[in-house]
Amino acid sequence: MRAFCAPKETEHDVADTLPQLTLYNTLSRSKEPFEPIDKDNVRMYVCGPTVYDYAHIGNARPVIVFDVLFRLLRHIYGEDKVTYVRNITDVDDKINKRALETHGDAIAAGTMSLNEAIREVTEKTAAQYQSDMKALGCLEPTHQPRATEFVLPREDGKSDMVSMIQTLLDKGHAYIAKGAQGREVLFRVNSMEDYGKLSNRKLEDQQAGARIAVESHKENVGDFVLWKESNANEPGWDGVFDGETIHGRPGWHIECSAMSDAYLGETFDIHGGGLDLIFPHHENEIAQSRCCHGTDKMANVWMHNGFLEVEGEKMSKSLGNFVTVRDEMRGTSQSERRNMVRPPRSGSVMRISMLDTHYRQPINWTTERLNQIEDDLEDWVKMLKRIRPKGFQFNDPQNQIPSNELLNALMDDLNTPLAMSVIRRNQKEARKNEKAFKEFFGNIAFLGLINFDRLDGYLKDVSFDGMVGIKYRDEFANAWALKIGHLNDDHKLIDSIEKQWKADGIALNLTKSLEVTLRKKSADGDFDEIGDLVAKRQKFIEDKNWAEADRIRDELLEQGIQLKDGKDPETGERITTWEVKR
Ligand SMILES: [Zn+2]
Repeated sequence: MRAFCAPKETEHDVADTLPQLTLYNTLSRSKEPFEPIDKDNVRMYVCGPTVYDYAHIGNARPVIVFDVLFRLLRHIYGEDKVTYVRNITDVDDKINKRALETHGDAIAAGTMSLNEAIREVTEKTAAQYQSDMKALGCLEPTHQPRATEFVLPREDGKSDMVSMIQTLLDKGHAYIAKGAQGREVLFRVNSMEDYGKLSNRKLEDQQAGARIAVESHKENVGDFVLWKESNANEPGWDGVFDGETIHGRPGWHIECSAMSDAYLGETFDIHGGGLDLIFPHHENEIAQSRCCHGTDKMANVWMHNGFLEVEGEKMSKSLGNFVTVRDEMRGTSQSERRNMVRPPRSGSVMRISMLDTHYRQPINWTTERLNQIEDDLEDWVKMLKRIRPKGFQFNDPQNQIPSNELLNALMDDLNTPLAMSVIRRNQKEARKNEKAFKEFFGNIAFLGLINFDRLDGYLKDVSFDGMVGIKYRDEFANAWALKIGHLNDDHKLIDSIEKQWKADGIALNLTKSLEVTLRKKSADGDFDEIGDLVAKRQKFIEDKNWAEADRIRDELLEQGIQLKDGKDPETGERITTWEVKR
């Protein structure tokens, strides 16, 4: 996407026509102009999910924030000039435990490897994660490596955790010690002069008040685990360190050092994650990578997004306000979640809600705010449908280019609240002329705010082929959930609602073209498409069997569906439409 903006006569190099991108760097605690190490390969790493539980909305925040940055970098440097890596953490004690419980016998018998067992127990959560992030409008990163694949030395020679740990041992930055739980390879924090720079913590502060006695095998209380021996009941990999085989598993931090090196090299441009990762995770990633490679920096820019609160409170399982992305998309009912009855949301509503706050500020995630965005979004979509110029293709990449004004906002350390206010003003002006419309659409599309393949899904008054029986009007919330679920690819939700309607003699039919139709249970117990009933009636009319034709019409009327006969204005053919009797 090199050409951009209105004047098309010359192909500018985008980077030359834009203001300077500045990003806030946690390392320097200031906003700095961003200059990539290599303009032809701009490299970014973001810490990804542990695929043990479903992602909560707090986990979704960095994914959305860095997706915006990914889009911006691609726009500046070119789509194929940015490498974005987001890892999948599938090395985790809880995951290991579950893998052993489920596939312990097969692992012991040698018919299944630990990695295969882990892949199986994390398959569902990993797939849900991908589907959730897609629904949130996020592009797929260039690479999504799994930690399990980078524990042991690899055939392709890419960096791995065991080899990195051995290098740290060789260079005197690590040592093997026996603790209460078995042998450990520990990182020697004293061996690094400026350890603690990212989090601004001094080693001496960390030592004060520490319970040294508990961990007497450590030289320094700040020393952290690189490798931990597994006991007989715990799964592990055979890591060889200083010639000793230690059956065990890696510490949490080393995976990101190995995988970032594997795909981005020893030093790269941007490393991102949530504020809560600064210490110890990112601090220790830096220590491992720099000491292993003998470099001054692991990444030039360290970016961290702020916290998220739900209805003004910190999100926690014990408070009962813990909301997963999946919960938000399905909605939570009284019976499921006593404290948290929430209507279903499209991924777009969640994305806009995130971007309305600057990424470094805390977000207060409220139902009120989400409702408001849902209403706004419906207005946007109605407008897009109504005033779309003839021949304007939503899918055409040339129509998905941001305006300079939007870019100016984003170039200033991703000022998305300002960008969103630009879009809200664009919407007010979109009616004026084609140029204004294009600017509105281009900005929405660039930020990935709507799924423009399925615009009808955003309309609340969409009545499934023009009809929702009066009797079923109360079910409208469910129908809406279905529509939303459909936007989010949540087929489980669709199934559960279909079941409920079926029990009541009404079934929903989801066609391949993603349209929803109602079906009514007939006397013989089959489900008839209302469309089929109309066709049947049409046939009776053609045969002049008025009695049967009227019977069908009256039966549908009882269901609150009124048929209207008329002529197709284009073909002149006789057609029957239906609407809800109010
Ligand atoms: Zn990480």
